[in-house]
Amino acid sequence: MSEALSGGCLCGNVRYEVRGEPVYVFHCHCSMCRRAGGTAFQTWAGLEDDALTVTQGSPERYESSSFATRSFCARCGGQLFYEYTEGQSPRVWVTVGTLDRPEAIAPQRHVFSADGVPWLHMEDGLPRTEGDPEL
Ligand SMILES: [Zn+2]
Ligand SMILES: [Zn+2]
Repeated sequence: MSEALSGGCLCGNVRYEVRGEPVYVFHCHCSMCRRAGGTAFQTWAGLEDDALTVTQGSPERYESSSFATRSFCARCGGQLFYEYTEGQSPRVWVTVGTLDRPEAIAPQRHVFSADGVPWLHMEDGLPRTEGDPEL
């Protein structure tokens, strides 16, 4: 079994661990990820069921849509998790940027690429989905 991935927010109040390997990793260019993160895009790693354990602190949870919540540190504002409330798989996602070793993750795709900012050009050769990845 591979080494557990660990991560946490900027201020260190919230820490977490991920068991096993993420099952799906993508860059999301949707406007909600952009606003939530204050970034051009957000990179998400979707996890196997029950692979995420919060080991320290207690993130705030924001219901960003009727079908999902976003969790973040109430102290530093760092975006941490995205969780579907029903159906979809992977159900739980973590922001790759909050991992202690983000270099251990290999992104597979861009999603909502049609909604991305026009001045960002990433020549990484990854496939692009214009809209929802339809998990
Ligand atoms: Zn924090
Ligand atoms: Zn998004």
